[in-house]
Amino acid sequence: MKMIVENIEKKFDGEEVIEDFEVLTKDVGRVQEETLQKILEENGETEYLKQWGLNGRTDAETFKACVPIVTHKNLEPYIQRIADGDFSPILTGKSIETISLSSGTTQGKPKFVPFNDELMESTMQIFKTSFAFRNREFPIGNGKALQFIYSSKQFKTKGGLAAGTATTNVYRNAQFKKTMKAMSTPCCSPDEVIFGPDFQQSLYCHLLCGLIFRDEVHVVSSTFAHSIVHAFRTFEQVWESLVVDMREGVLSSRVTVPSIRLAMTKLLKPDPELADAIYSKCLSLSNWCGLIPELFPNTKYIYGIMTGSMEPYLKKLRHYAGELPLLSADYGSSEGWVGVNINPKLPPEMVTYAVLPNIGYFEFLPLEENVNGMMEQANSPVGLTEVKLGEEYEIVFTNFAGLYRYRLGDVVKIKGFHNGTPELQFVCRSNLLLNINIDKNTEKDLQLAVEAAAKHLIDEKLEVVDFTSHVNISADPGHYIIFWELSGEATDEMLQDCCNCLDKSFIDAGYVSSRKVSAIGALELRIVKRGTFHKILDHFVGLGGAVSQFKTPRCVGPKNSSLIQILSTNVVKSYSSTAFY
Ligand code: AMP
Repeated sequence: MKMIVENIEKKFDGEEVIEDFEVLTKDVGRVQEETLQKILEENGETEYLKQWGLNGRTDAETFKACVPIVTHKNLEPYIQRIADGDFSPILTGKSIETISLSSGTTQGKPKFVPFNDELMESTMQIFKTSFAFRNREFPIGNGKALQFIYSSKQFKTKGGLAAGTATTNVYRNAQFKKTMKAMSTPCCSPDEVIFGPDFQQSLYCHLLCGLIFRDEVHVVSSTFAHSIVHAFRTFEQVWESLVVDMREGVLSSRVTVPSIRLAMTKLLKPDPELADAIYSKCLSLSNWCGLIPELFPNTKYIYGIMTGSMEPYLKKLRHYAGELPLLSADYGSSEGWVGVNINPKLPPEMVTYAVLPNIGYFEFLPLEENVNGMMEQANSPVGLTEVKLGEEYEIVFTNFAGLYRYRLGDVVKIKGFHNGTPELQFVCRSNLLLNINIDKNTEKDLQLAVEAAAKHLIDEKLEVVDFTSHVNISADPGHYIIFWELSGEATDEMLQDCCNCLDKSFIDAGYVSSRKVSAIGALELRIVKRGTFHKILDHFVGLGGAVSQFKTPRCVGPKNSSLIQILSTNVVKSYSSTAFY
């Protein structure tokens, strides 16, 4: 594998990468043992591992008996010392020089996690493996990718370590560029745009670069699908200005960052013919349907993470994509990667991720249905070769970046096996729950309820631009509040129907029975002003997050007072469900 990683930038041989993957996944048990052994050999002398009394043993049994399962909270003091400049071997044998900020959109506050060369290497292995499978089904020639990627603010920790979001750390790494080039998908935008300090200006220039290299764009992508939808929603607002820039060859004054202006000036030449073509294409579209293939006629597919909290954007993405295939990207986190999409032809709703057994040691905490029909964690974790088809688990991993038996906080379902490795479907974040008493509704339940209720808006051609939720336990009885931003005005009658439908769509037995006896109060639907979710995105970027990793928080916790403040100050109308009376 190492040899392939080193040679990849010279020539990308997809069949060789696939062959390598096939070998790795045929003997998963052995690969897992060897991977754990390697991790423990490299890091056994760290302060963290030494305290658990492994005494040089590297077998799975000892490891599981000695080392506890942890969450980020347990590791925080160790990571903080690293960030503060303690270079002794705390979590890893080799000292950590870079810190990643996980998106933290679910918890309200970004978390620090270690980033190192090994993590970069597994990132590239994931990218190459999924590209190899993708390219076999959807070959792209020598072209460019219109990538809506953005860097976060980079800063130094107290101890002088470079810190930024994981995606920023990846984009900054020389290996990333080489790999993208080797895979024939270099980004159309210059670095100054990707790493610009103002994401609105970067987004405008990404769009402009896409138009300049219009015929060469073969892929339109982003890390999470939200960024693509956001980009084309913005296009609807700024397209006339983009056309003017192209016609005159002069960048709009809305872009003020000198480095971006300089870089864009080198690319922008007056091109009235192209400007006219884009102008008439935009005028000819009905409600921007099929916008992406119209603008970029050689695009072969749209690519980005489309599962989990990204599913609510699929409808809009399909609207912009027309007939173009939507290919969901891989599964991982700032803490480490998990799996790769090796079935690119599957629609995003059905995508699974095959676990790469050499990037970490994986364990799975079984979730079982209890007497109330709710999923809860049961018993001890099982290994990668012991998971059962159809079962749900929470992922626990150990990797080369200093995380040992780390609970990622995601729930997955085993949908099949590729050779010996499981193919996982992402189900939801395990801690994203609407819960008052015996009710439990996950992110997925919320998404389904919103989809059902939004059908009441179709006749008026209205859509839910974005949504989130909150549990109001200060009221007695407590109740769910759902916040919606809409694309236009809806009547009170229609919104009351939506509110009732939301309430009825939470079909979890605990919720329904509590609603019937008023142990949970009537669900509230609150409509917020246009642009409110944009404010949430801005708030998140202000905290050091990057647009590339943004995921709208689907449930706002009681401690997340800044988000509650943004939402409550923007409410324009609210409705209380009458569905249970
Ligand atoms: P971050 O905090 O930005 O590193 O985000 C990591 C989290 O994003 C994961 O723990 C998942 O909850 C979510 N995520 C990452 N990849 C996927 C995917 N392919 N499908 C669904 N959710 C994902």
